Amino acid sequence: MDTADRLAHVRERIDAAARRAGRDPAGVRLVAVGKQFPVERLRDIVRAGHRRLGENRVQEAESKAADLAAAVEWHLIGHLQGNKARRAARIFDWVHTVDSLAVARRLAAGAREAGRSINLLVQVDLAGTRERSGVPPEDLCALLSDLAREVALPLRGLMTLPPRTPTAEGARPHFRHLAALARSAADEGLLPPHPDLSMGMSADYEIAVEEGATLVRVGSGIFGARPAPPVNG
Ligand SMILES: *Cc1c(COP(=O)(O)O)cnc(C)c1O
Repeated sequence: MDTADRLAHVRERIDAAARRAGRDPAGVRLVAVGKQFPVERLRDIVRAGHRRLGENRVQEAESKAADLAAAVEWHLIGHLQGNKARRAARIFDWVHTVDSLAVARRLAAGAREAGRSINLLVQVDLAGTRERSGVPPEDLCALLSDLAREVALPLRGLMTLPPRTPTAEGARPHFRHLAALARSAADEGLLPPHPDLSMGMSADYEIAVEEGATLVRVGSGIFGARPAPPVNG
């Protein structure tokens, strides 16, 4: 199978998972994660009509965006350092990894300068062990109210990278937990009535869709095994 075939295959599995859960497949958007793959590989799916791409580093996304020169919706899925936020604001349409008021303020300042808007998702660290970046669940409401009050960018929902579990099925309770957190935040008016849920990767996106994901982030399931990461940079 080539890359475009694998993308179509992932999309079919998403649609099937949505139907199993009684959901409209159109309510699940697929973010193709091209991090560490050369831009030519991304071009394969952009040519096939896919326009939603995820990257975890600002610099890599900048260079790919320049090379692709296509109208792409860029999603930042990696941790964002404050000192890169203004640059991130020039290219990303979605940032999935907001975990502090400070970084969101910088994104807002950058977006204002660039005359654009950015959709924000707050990353939640469900294990609360600091194994992952993100805000622990007990601090979520406070951060959401700070963001709503002080940051003039649309706050769309929540994202998580669940704690590592031996099987994909082990992620299910974490996805369910994130969905419950989003629901209660929406009930309190801290998120929109139908908040976005960014959850699920190659190993577990079908489970995430069954549990309510609206954005799934799939890399190796589309592009194959990633080349080794660069040593630095
Ligand atoms: C790399 C990455 C993905 C995609 O991972 P795959 O297992 O290759 O699908 C999804 N989300 C985040 C946050 C990532 O860093």
